[in-house]
Amino acid sequence: MSERYASLDAYTPGEQPTDMQYLKLNTNESPYPPSDGVLAAISGEDMKALRLYPDPDCTQLKDALAAYHGVGRENIFVSNGSDDILNFSFAAFTKVGKKAYFADITYGFYKVFSALHGIEYETIPLTSELSIRPEDYMGRHGLIVIANPNAPTGKRLDVAKIEEIACSCPDSVVLVDEAYVDFGSQSCISLTKKYDNVLVVRTYSKSRSMAGARLGYAIGEKELISDLEKIKFSTNPYSVNRLTMKAGVAALKDNDYYEKNCQRIIEAREYTEKQLNALGFEVIPSWANFVFARKDGYDGQMLYSKLKENGILVRHFGDERIADYIRITIGTMHDMEHFISVLKEITEKNDEIR
Ligand SMILES: *Cc1c(COP(=O)(O)O)cnc(C)c1O
Repeated sequence: MSERYASLDAYTPGEQPTDMQYLKLNTNESPYPPSDGVLAAISGEDMKALRLYPDPDCTQLKDALAAYHGVGRENIFVSNGSDDILNFSFAAFTKVGKKAYFADITYGFYKVFSALHGIEYETIPLTSELSIRPEDYMGRHGLIVIANPNAPTGKRLDVAKIEEIACSCPDSVVLVDEAYVDFGSQSCISLTKKYDNVLVVRTYSKSRSMAGARLGYAIGEKELISDLEKIKFSTNPYSVNRLTMKAGVAALKDNDYYEKNCQRIIEAREYTEKQLNALGFEVIPSWANFVFARKDGYDGQMLYSKLKENGILVRHFGDERIADYIRITIGTMHDMEHFISVLKEITEKNDEIR
């Protein structure tokens, strides 16, 4: 292998085991299926049309997204999941001698993309409460990446704070990763109309129940978008397939359905937070479709393993600062009741032994 890549430390996706049926609360997927409109959008004719390449310009999908968000087609970029767009952004928006800046505890892929493209990066420590301090990002020169809400903490930053960051770094691209914005948070799309250095990245994977279809998009000033197009057309112009393109358009027409699902997830999240508190867990109030929780005297790895033995998958991260936490994806209310009852048993047994 090329020396350039031999030492790469690749991203580790959440496990998708096939040895048995688990309750999957580990990869922040939606517990709900795509809308009826999406299911109806793909026909036998579309299957036949798979012999043809898809539209590399994704015109229909871009027009639908542009109308939905009230921006121009030239302000929209689409590709194969938001990971694809993050990858292109790290390639496009970092200059020689400049760094990428992101939190020490955030989405694990930012480090991987930096390494992949040979970009120097600086991780900015979250506060002891695991919050982002906006001041730490102001006046930087490079690429600033902020997941808002952040993962895996579920904490969010006010749009006004992100605006201050964007103002303070006119020669930096400020990339706001809004994978979890639909679960009660505020979007920075309005900033993309005011500032030419703000890029908002979105995904259909979480709130729109389409993780398996691989569809993400970005919104920003047209120069940023054409830079991303250049990278996409230098790698794979057909990164969005025909079926996903149709599903993506159809999903936008069924917004009520998705909003209702988000509302149900928010309710199940509130239930989960309360029940975890009652079991003695410390829970970071979340603005996402997961919660991040810990309990004194418990190790995250141990909780993860005990839950897995009981057929429930959650996510545990090894990073030192968060090693005693587990991240629990919010499923249906029924899923969360089951999760809480299993966790109750685990902790009761354990507290007896102690
Ligand atoms: C899930 C996630 C993504 C990736 O989304 P895809 O569109 O499925 O590639 C990007 N950023 C964050 C913060 C995520 O949690």
